[in-house]
Amino acid sequence: MIDSDATVSWDTDDDDDVAELTEDVLVFCPYCGEGVEMLVDHGGGAVQDYVEDCTVCCQPWAVRLTFDSDGHPTVSATTLDDE
Ligand SMILES: [Zn+2]
Repeated sequence: MIDSDATVSWDTDDDDDVAELTEDVLVFCPYCGEGVEMLVDHGGGAVQDYVEDCTVCCQPWAVRLTFDSDGHPTVSATTLDDE
């Protein structure tokens, strides 16, 4: 009795629902001032705090990501130096 899984269907449809859950937001680096596009994740909660390195100058940002009631993301990046 061979139970091979022969019904493999290659789904080449290009409808990526995942795009609904993430969004690019422009953030300005507090160190070098460059605008960097960040991918924000709507599934991570209404307020998200995390550390992310600048892709331009590699300095670490303290990132605060918030979503308003319309689901519009606001991102602020500050330096980690808390003095
Ligand atoms: Zn930078």
